[in-house]
Amino acid sequence: MKIEFSELDTAVNGSVTTEFDASYEAARLLFNTRIRSRPLAICRCADASDVVRAVRFARKAGLPVGIRGGGHNPGGAALVEGGLVIDVGAIEHVRLNDDAPTPSVTVGPGAGWRDIDRVTYERHTIPGDNGVAHGYATPSGDCPTVSNAGFSLGGGYGPLTRRFGLGCDQIVAAEVVDARGEVLRVDDDQHPDLFWALRGAGGAGLGVVTELTYRLHPLPKSLLCGMISWPLDQAEDIFRAYRDLYADRVDDRLALSLLLSTMPYPDGEPVITMYGLYIGSPDEGEQALAPIRTLGKPLDDSFGRMSYTAFMGELGAKIVYGLQAKWQGGYFGPTGFDDAAFEVMVKYVRAAPSAYSMVRFDLLGGGAVSRIADHATAFSHRNALHNVSIIALWHPGAPTDLNLAWIDEFMSELKPALSGQVYQNYADENLTNWAKAYYGEHYPRLQQIKKRYDPDDLFHHIQSVRLP
Ligand SMILES: Cc1cc2nc3c(=O)[nH]c(=O)nc-3n(C[C@H](O)[C@H](O)[C@H](O)COP(=O)(O)OP(=O)(O)OC[C@H]3O[C@@H](n4cnc5c(N)ncnc54)[C@H](O)[C@@H]3O)c2cc1C
Repeated sequence: MKIEFSELDTAVNGSVTTEFDASYEAARLLFNTRIRSRPLAICRCADASDVVRAVRFARKAGLPVGIRGGGHNPGGAALVEGGLVIDVGAIEHVRLNDDAPTPSVTVGPGAGWRDIDRVTYERHTIPGDNGVAHGYATPSGDCPTVSNAGFSLGGGYGPLTRRFGLGCDQIVAAEVVDARGEVLRVDDDQHPDLFWALRGAGGAGLGVVTELTYRLHPLPKSLLCGMISWPLDQAEDIFRAYRDLYADRVDDRLALSLLLSTMPYPDGEPVITMYGLYIGSPDEGEQALAPIRTLGKPLDDSFGRMSYTAFMGELGAKIVYGLQAKWQGGYFGPTGFDDAAFEVMVKYVRAAPSAYSMVRFDLLGGGAVSRIADHATAFSHRNALHNVSIIALWHPGAPTDLNLAWIDEFMSELKPALSGQVYQNYADENLTNWAKAYYGEHYPRLQQIKKRYDPDDLFHHIQSVRLP
């Protein structure tokens, strides 16, 4: 049966692209250019009513549906081969709600974090303690083109996470188009089961999120933020200091992440970098950071006073587009983040076939993440402290086999140090036990919720929740 996508194109405020359109290649392009799945059509939705039309069209045509936000899922989950992709990236309104007792921001799923921060933090000022000017912010990641929905529906870690919690912990309400094409208001009182599932597994094929409301937190306009880098031959001392810094730390104001890459990136010497910020007065931040600053012989130390958005902008500016990629990794076991793992990481970083590749510890558990009960949301990694991401990135002209072999061998040597839990936002499309690795004991409950809201498995991707 011929599927008349032109009918959908006429009906929507946005537009529909098929493989016969010159814009098709650009419409299916993902952050990871290695993944080239071919949907039959991509419906770029302008608003929630377009999403309703697209869902009903796909149902009638018997097409599986993929949902695309910013297209950054490393395994390419946004595209469905031979199906219809509902692209919500253009639904990007941002509305600050600062008149309610708890300030919040209501956003379209496609809005990027820097656009949200501009409204809540840069352009909005509130008086804080001791007359220090504050803005509002909510935890986000460093990449300006990751969609807020894709980030927070799968968890969401960033420099504010240790203090305020995950991205998903900030969601107070959602608007969702379900598999029947009905618009649902979802929060603690309405569809509480779906609300539970969205916060950790919302990207796993339960419905199309067309709006989210996030809780906001006051944040000083000037913070101590920055990066310190050391040559890679000092890495083991830096790893140890980093591990010990967080081992029994209750104070959640100092948020530092680790990165093994090159300086200057991508064609300099291998380095280990600690980067992050202190949420509090910069003077207290200087004291908290002092033990780190005396470690080894740093190559560079950029820590200083700046705004949160200036710092996040700096992190985002280092992201390179148009590369092929593969991500692997996971959370360290209770004793895994130790000398044997440090040696493996240094060895493989030195041998990386591509200078774009990196190892990233952007995740800190503990703090506010661990203060929320494990069963409160579908996010199942709250008890883990450190996560490692091995990120293989290479130029499209470079040999794919060589880069894939590097990350596979790296991962197999590091595996004994890892717990087996994997962060769902850093999806590995080759993971066979993904259901357990991403969702742990929450998976059977997610399957029941899937059955209730999508009994025909309309929203389907390589690692979407399966029907029970
Ligand atoms: C360069 C880079 C930097 C990153 N930095 C961080 C970071 O600092 N912290 C962190 O936690 N993560 C980070 N990530 C991971 C990122 O948060 C996840 O991959 C996220 O899911 C991407 O969302 P997206 O909408 O851009 O991607 P997509 O691939 O479009 O979507 C991701 C998944 O969510 C689903 N989805 C997207 N939007 C919706 C919606 N509106 N309704 C229902 N389902 C939806 C998709 O179907 C897909 O399964 C980073 C990724 C990259 C590539």
